[in-house]
Amino acid sequence: MVKESQSSGRSRRPLIVMKFGGTSVGSAERMQGVADILKEHAGHADMVVVVSAMGGATDMLIRAANQASDGQEEPWKGSRQELARRHREVADQLLSASEQSSVLPRLAELVKHFENLCSGFTLLHEITPRGMDTLSSLGEVMSATLMAAILRSSGLKAEAVDATECIVTDDNFGNASPLFDETGAKTHARLGPLLKRSVIPVVTGFRGATKEGVCTTLGRGGSDYSATILGSALDATEVWIWTDVDGVLTADPRLVPEARILPEVSYREAIELSFFGAKVLHPRTIQPVMQKEIPVWIKNSFNPSCPGTKIVAAPRNGHGGVKAITSVKDAVLITLSGRNSISFPQLAARVFNCLYLENVSTLMVTQSSADNVLCFAIHQADLLRVKTQLEKAFELEMLHDYVGMLEVMPRVAIVVTVGENMKGTPGITGRAFGALGRKGINVIAIAQGSSELSISFAIKSSDMKEAVKAVHEEFNL
Ligand code: ADP
Ligand code: ASP
Ligand code: MG
Repeated sequence: MVKESQSSGRSRRPLIVMKFGGTSVGSAERMQGVADILKEHAGHADMVVVVSAMGGATDMLIRAANQASDGQEEPWKGSRQELARRHREVADQLLSASEQSSVLPRLAELVKHFENLCSGFTLLHEITPRGMDTLSSLGEVMSATLMAAILRSSGLKAEAVDATECIVTDDNFGNASPLFDETGAKTHARLGPLLKRSVIPVVTGFRGATKEGVCTTLGRGGSDYSATILGSALDATEVWIWTDVDGVLTADPRLVPEARILPEVSYREAIELSFFGAKVLHPRTIQPVMQKEIPVWIKNSFNPSCPGTKIVAAPRNGHGGVKAITSVKDAVLITLSGRNSISFPQLAARVFNCLYLENVSTLMVTQSSADNVLCFAIHQADLLRVKTQLEKAFELEMLHDYVGMLEVMPRVAIVVTVGENMKGTPGITGRAFGALGRKGINVIAIAQGSSELSISFAIKSSDMKEAVKAVHEEFNL
């Protein structure tokens, strides 16, 4: 049972932020399932709902924006029809007549907005990052509008809320970060009065706005992050993330179908897993709730009776060794040698400054001091920007051969073993190496943090599935 909310002033009932992902709101049937889940819990707790766009809608919006900026009109006109059809179909099936009369014009207005934006991009043959954010997060505005109306049609009190009225972010369009003080004030002002009247706010995931009110997004998969940002702002009792799997699993079920549910994982383990590719959580989801120790649950909207995974500061079920395996598929390894001309500290400082300028995180770093070699892995998507920065920064040295040419190894995967209790358990690396060796998989590079929370192995992308399976099996997960 959920303990009562610590938040003063509001009601004394627990407050749960519930986020529903794209597959959980992907059709009329799934949206009705959401309404059923909320009806079941409405008696015990106050709720704030966060919704993603209907499954596939964000991909379609981004594709349409790119086609428009290429000057093509026909493809996005097709997407407009599809967008209108999918949402209208749900409205036809689930909304009462009076709800339809207010919601259908609103949905038509949003489709018109899509059309106006795409027309603009087509005329200009250009799309700006802020234009992309406004367009790509329209799916959330549509799904929140629909979901709130479905809840009202099911007898609950609900109101759609645009997160641009709550979440204040910096202006890093496409991957914005929240400004927590401003977000706290705006969220209380917008959602507080609704909660006081026992109205469920249905908030758009994924999007926020700058202080000036320009729409931003929190990065792909960002609705998880929206939920914990709001959970933290409201001092929620818990955050529940409803998705299409039973919880955090010992591996990606698409790679290892026999992966098992983990009943509890720590915040640090969840951060590590999501950073290294476990798509079930946006990489920054845990950050807003960690300090306040607000528990986060991962639950399956297709199987609501399964308890799911609880993410907390200190799990009770800690056992030695590896807890889960995760992997990043599209990585590249970059190697740079300072030869004898540049000291290693200088080489590292200048390389990391390039990464800093592009705001790119490394997935893995290794060094060999004897011949001044620095090797690091990044996401393939960041390669062009980083390579351009490095070439600029070391232009003179490369010209004079003072720095070894920048070597890029493409099609690399990083396989990562994660577990708080790997710390002090000897032999884990050896066992993983052994399991990979028996499958004939070559390890290109290896890295382990001093926290011993994770150990990373760089391998060829084509070996990834087999590698994850082999390591999963080795540790009897
Ligand atoms: P949503 O649309 O609900 O946000 P996502 O597709 O973003 O859902 O995330 C859920 C998916 O994450 C699962 O369907 C699963 O394929 C994938 N996944 C990858 N690694 C893991 C893991 N370790 N545990 C659970 N799911 C994982
Ligand atoms: N709809 C957004 C995406 O597909 C955000 C999310 O689903 O979390 O990236
Ligand atoms: Mg997701």
